[in-house]
Amino acid sequence: MKTLLIHDPAPDRTYEKLPGAADVLAVVAHPDDESFGLGAVLAAFADHGARVRVVCFTHGEASTLGQTGPPLAEARAAELRSAADVLGIDEVELLAYADGCLGEVPLEELTALVADALAPADLLLVFDQGGITGHPDHRRATEAACAVGAAHRIPVLAWALPDQVAGQLNAELGTGFVGRAPDQIDITIDIDRDRQHDAIACHASQSTHNPVLGRRLELSGAREHLRWLIHPRDPADRPPPEGQRTRR
Ligand SMILES: [Zn+2]
Repeated sequence: MKTLLIHDPAPDRTYEKLPGAADVLAVVAHPDDESFGLGAVLAAFADHGARVRVVCFTHGEASTLGQTGPPLAEARAAELRSAADVLGIDEVELLAYADGCLGEVPLEELTALVADALAPADLLLVFDQGGITGHPDHRRATEAACAVGAAHRIPVLAWALPDQVAGQLNAELGTGFVGRAPDQIDITIDIDRDRQHDAIACHASQSTHNPVLGRRLELSGAREHLRWLIHPRDPADRPPPEGQRTRR
């Protein structure tokens, strides 16, 4: 088993290891979010013996990529199943909400589905509140998970991008990545991207011509950054409004 502790030369930064968890439930919007975004972190949890499960709200049929092949909803469902096997994901629940329209679904409806899938999770894993790419579906999936975490007293951990990475991507590629300042990052882990790359390859409809993804992974190197939306020390906390989070 690889250590996830890293040692940073910057003396003012604190690094931690991956939080302990026996059953991790990832809540995402689209097939490929579990790989392109959470892939390295999910693989690390699986390596550490956690049972890993995913709830995915849409089939990702609205993607601008991969529209020339077979029906995208079917293709992406199959890609998700293959990627899940690669990452060591034990269970996938793929729902059929309209891609791009999660914000129109009542939050209570989404939270009820996450709550149904929750047991026996002791950790929820999501995209950061800004949605990473800024996609509203990403933000909605996180919102649903946070509501369930708050109601059921389960900590919620978010995968985040450092603001240097987001800023560089946006400057180079005109993207809308939402990053986090160093003092908003709670955990930085050293990761191995091999299985993430293999999982990404399973999503051929989305990864074959995807320079933004390639550049993001290149800039991120062998580290991932995480932040607590609901901290395990106080899981009854409701997540604060975006931008008003305070550190404990
Ligand atoms: Zn997505």
